[in-house]
Amino acid sequence: MTFIEKWLHIIRSCSFDNTYKMAWAKAITEIAVEYEEQSKMEASRHVEVQLREIAKKVLRYYFEQTMFFNLQQSSNPVKPPVMVSTSKTLIAAYQAQSGTMKPIKWFRSKIESVCSKEYEKAVREIVRALKTDVSYRFLRVEGKEVEGVYKYEQKADSLFIQKENLLALKQNRLVVVDAINYRWTQMLENFNHSPRLSKKLRIIDDDEVSRRSLGKFASYLFVENPDSHCFICNLKIEDETPSIDHVIPWSYLYSDDLWNLVFAHQSCNSSKSNVVPNEMMIQRLEERNKTLFQLLEELGKLDKHVSELEFAIDSNLVRKFWIACQG
Ligand SMILES: [Zn+2]
Repeated sequence: MTFIEKWLHIIRSCSFDNTYKMAWAKAITEIAVEYEEQSKMEASRHVEVQLREIAKKVLRYYFEQTMFFNLQQSSNPVKPPVMVSTSKTLIAAYQAQSGTMKPIKWFRSKIESVCSKEYEKAVREIVRALKTDVSYRFLRVEGKEVEGVYKYEQKADSLFIQKENLLALKQNRLVVVDAINYRWTQMLENFNHSPRLSKKLRIIDDDEVSRRSLGKFASYLFVENPDSHCFICNLKIEDETPSIDHVIPWSYLYSDDLWNLVFAHQSCNSSKSNVVPNEMMIQRLEERNKTLFQLLEELGKLDKHVSELEFAIDSNLVRKFWIACQG
């Protein structure tokens, strides 16, 4: 087997119990992509990769997946894996420091400087978990070690990969990253019931999470709610532009749909982000949707959003997603 075949073999053979190995494989692949060969004549045939460098990337993956989507990474939600609880602690520190609950991409957060102490502690904890749980276990497939992938002495701070293997990894990165994301998504399906998991997982690879402007939905919502009453507190929204709110949290659906959008005060909206709505709100949303659809139909407005609204009413989507998002 070539190095790449071995690498893919390990990824495909990983058990489904938790996602550490995928984070590990992804971080090393990313390090390979960043690797620049110093010179063809380079004496050393092995390249040193510090566990600390791997840990920083691993921390970023869990930080973002947890902050945006609160994804479960193992079968036991009560006792999450160390890397997840470490990320959660760091997220809490960041939110306290920045004063906002709004999710943010790792690189934009400048977490290393904003929470430098907590960040260093988190990296150390991830290094420890990588040493004891991942570094050598990763190579074991069905009880046997796959040889010639990398050298790692137990408890060491670095591992060593042959230069040509690192370069092969860099060259085949598209295939390798897809394989890792696919396997990781399969794992997440075992622990999470929320939709669009593969899309949620891919946010790590994007610079930005696309949260499109909801402004285009305002003209639809005005049809049923011309005086702009707030869906959350029922009061009329005055002296501010109504904000547009997802009733079933965006972090769960990862999608913007007319049937799930309402007007709200900016303050009401931001105070309830990511909270699962109660049944009364769900009932009101269902009724709102029926009225809204009737009015839009009477106006002869029959575009993509309106037909999605009709589909949602006919197939009871609000209630189905509401039940599902309670876990
Ligand atoms: Zn309000």
